[in-house]
Amino acid sequence: MKSYRQMNKAELTECKAQLEKAFEEAKAKGLQLDMSRGKPAAMQLDLVMPMMDALTSKSELISESGMDCRNYGGPDGLPEAKALMAAMIDAKPEQVVVCGNSSLNIMYDTVSRSMTHGVCGSTPWCKLEEIKFLCPVPGYDRHFKVTQFFGIQMINIPMSPEGPDMDLVENYVNHDPAVKGIWCVPKYSNPQGYSYSDETVRRFAALTPAAEDFRIYWDNAYCVHHLYNGAENQDHILNILEECEKAGHPDLAFEFCSTSKVSFPGAGVAAVASSERNLEWIKASMHVQTIGHDKINQLRHVRYYKDFDGLMQQMQLHGDMMRSKFEAVEKRLAEALDGLEIGTWTKPRGGYFISFDALPGCAKAIVAKCKEAGVTLTGAGATFPYGLDPQDSNIRIAPSFPTPREMSDATEVFVLCVKLVSVEKLLENA
Ligand code: PLP
Repeated sequence: MKSYRQMNKAELTECKAQLEKAFEEAKAKGLQLDMSRGKPAAMQLDLVMPMMDALTSKSELISESGMDCRNYGGPDGLPEAKALMAAMIDAKPEQVVVCGNSSLNIMYDTVSRSMTHGVCGSTPWCKLEEIKFLCPVPGYDRHFKVTQFFGIQMINIPMSPEGPDMDLVENYVNHDPAVKGIWCVPKYSNPQGYSYSDETVRRFAALTPAAEDFRIYWDNAYCVHHLYNGAENQDHILNILEECEKAGHPDLAFEFCSTSKVSFPGAGVAAVASSERNLEWIKASMHVQTIGHDKINQLRHVRYYKDFDGLMQQMQLHGDMMRSKFEAVEKRLAEALDGLEIGTWTKPRGGYFISFDALPGCAKAIVAKCKEAGVTLTGAGATFPYGLDPQDSNIRIAPSFPTPREMSDATEVFVLCVKLVSVEKLLENA
């Protein structure tokens, strides 16, 4: 296929006319498709339904610790739930506090208590002039919303397939005491599906922050979300808590995880893992916040999965479902766009997203065009702090929710809109 960038004005104009016709036809189909959020499809949730039978009115709701799960108590989680969550992130059960249904909620609480009470005895952030967070971009929009909500200044850090630009991270963290945190999705990142290299993880662990209350927010949301079977086809990252300990910085990181995309989003189990000192700090305010989280749900998860192997068997079924959708999108993108030089995209081995980079200045228009033809994408800019993509080029594709058929229809519309908007952009300077 001839590259759009090599086309002269006449060729681009002719191309535009054809694409406009195809766009009108696509619009006439009256599609209503949603590729905006990383939600599991109903079929994937159906696979987990037997969990609802793991506990019945006849079940003994007694934890292995002897605790009656129907009652108050055990505010930092059942021992068997700690073991399961620890296995997911390769941590030790004693490093884990099991909380409620959402890891984002734990992250919000962690920022919130840092604002009001300070981290482990440091000055509360609300009493300081300026608080900054580093934000690898593109990244997870809800992370950025949390820091924006608290008025924390966000600084973009470019991502590569190895992870965030560590020269920049070291420069900021080791020299600027106003930098108090960094958002990380270290494995199958949202939205690129990148996993941090060993060197990146080691450099994180070796940071020597100018601020004693700087912490790494290690959101391991996609720790077990492989698309392919067999260890050689999966990404593996180093254990951040272990690396921090080895580097002599045991308190440097908070690690977050949940079963939102293992069992049921919004009705799973979430956890935070960290050093003893950090956990004591978290528990001190958590015990004021709640008398305890939902232990019956924790027990339901443990009884259903039994152990880490049981959980991974389920994840393999999820992976099989997701893989076909990812591959369908990637195949269609390649067929329609390879050689045109109007976009690049990631090819992840796990996670929930594909990250697409259009020609600069085109992302907003592509998303708007897709919407006009009935396909909803994540808002352009959402993958950047303040919703501002400086290049206006990144678009997050979430293949998880639609059926394979819908996914293929939606991708067809997407590539059409990418072509049309790119031609229009190129014509501006032709
Ligand atoms: N972290 C990341 C990177 C996510 O992509 C998501 C959901 O999409 C979450 C956290 C939300 O997790 P939870 O449901 O545990 O709050």
